Amino acid sequence: MIIFQNKIMDRSEVSIDIEDRGYQFGDGVYEVIRIYDGKLFEMEGHMKRLERSAGEIELSLPFPASEIIYSIKELIKHNNIKDGHVYMQITRGASSRNHPFPDNATPVLTAYTKEYEENPSATTEGIKALLADDIRWLRCDIKSLNLLGNVLGKQKAKDNGYDETIFHRGDTVTEGSSTNVFIVNNGQLVTHPATNLILNGITRKVVIDLAQNMSIPVREEEFTIDELLSADEVFITSTTIEVAPVTQINNTVLNDGKTGEVTRKLQEAFKNRISKVINK
Ligand code: PLP
Repeated sequence: MIIFQNKIMDRSEVSIDIEDRGYQFGDGVYEVIRIYDGKLFEMEGHMKRLERSAGEIELSLPFPASEIIYSIKELIKHNNIKDGHVYMQITRGASSRNHPFPDNATPVLTAYTKEYEENPSATTEGIKALLADDIRWLRCDIKSLNLLGNVLGKQKAKDNGYDETIFHRGDTVTEGSSTNVFIVNNGQLVTHPATNLILNGITRKVVIDLAQNMSIPVREEEFTIDELLSADEVFITSTTIEVAPVTQINNTVLNDGKTGEVTRKLQEAFKNRISKVINK
């Protein structure tokens, strides 16, 4: 079962118009929320970001966030999802194809759950990352459906035997194709500030919060490719992979190919944060 216009329906009964603007223009926004033991993780942060992304493209949520969440929780129960995620998207709706916003299109909300057969979180296995030019637009802070720059980046990594792409604009490292990037130096974290050049990851925010509680200093500042390659530790974060160590970037092996001490501590703290949600 899936959600269409906030109703739980059989997937085969749902049809999307060929002129839906999400389909034709990527004119819409989305979120991915992790499900642990049947419960939504950091739900409020994700819903706030969804509202913000929608607002930035002058789209209002077609249903109140509280009602969307209610339906999603029902869907999780209905589909009996223990570990996985829910993907939801809102498009500007269907209208005769023309670039400006249509006057009377109805936004379309869809959501579905995905159950994980294997936990995708990279706990001890290091990630191999490839550097690539950040060719994306200048509103990476909006979680929009336009992901071609990210898709091409990830494919380039895959084609070359890497797991993730780390983007840079000139000499400045921005973020991964679907992750935020942190470097660790002398026990301090540095990550790109939450500007228009990155998506302000929910996991990024949780990690910053955890680090501050653990008295690990965090600087939200730009850093260069050289600083990335010479960092004591590098890790990436996202809803699906949580906190994952990066042990190789291009041909440079980091930290002897091992998970660094600070990364390991943050992974542990992250797991504790998840347990709190599960046991609530
Ligand atoms: N940056 C980009 C470009 C992303 O697509 C994502 C997640 O999909 C992230 C960062 C991490 O965000 P979050 O922690 O909210 O999953």
